[in-house]
Amino acid sequence: MTRTIIIGLLFSVLFIRGCGVARAESPTNLYQDSSISGYNSYNSRVAPHFVAKEFMCHHCGKAKISRSLLYRLELLRLKLGVPIIVTSGYRCTLHNDSVGGTKNSQHKTGKAVDVKVKGYTPEQVANIARLVGFSFIKVYSTQTHIDVR
Ligand SMILES: [Zn+2]
Ligand SMILES: [Zn+2]
Repeated sequence: MTRTIIIGLLFSVLFIRGCGVARAESPTNLYQDSSISGYNSYNSRVAPHFVAKEFMCHHCGKAKISRSLLYRLELLRLKLGVPIIVTSGYRCTLHNDSVGGTKNSQHKTGKAVDVKVKGYTPEQVANIARLVGFSFIKVYSTQTHIDVR
């Protein structure tokens, strides 16, 4: 049912614009992601504490969100007891290149996020992320990269 609506939406976007490139500039033409189903708008809740837009590429609005990433993020959110601010989620190749991401960045597969948490240092976030099973963690000066590669 949802899938039909999304496909319909995508087709109408393509039809209306009359070109082969449908960019997600508005919530109505958000791309359906291949790794998670069940959201079809900007504000769709993808996990109890997270909505789709938090993971969208800053450049094109596309999103891929790994289920196992979401699962670990929820566990992390529970341990922290305060909101997690996702500063970077999914990145398309273009965006990843433009921010100097590595060629095989997990952000390109929807398996990584960079996060900030009020009241916690990046190092403290890293330690708790390790406890809830994130498999790769990198501490930066103002944020923490966590992924489920
Ligand atoms: Zn992009
Ligand atoms: Zn990162």
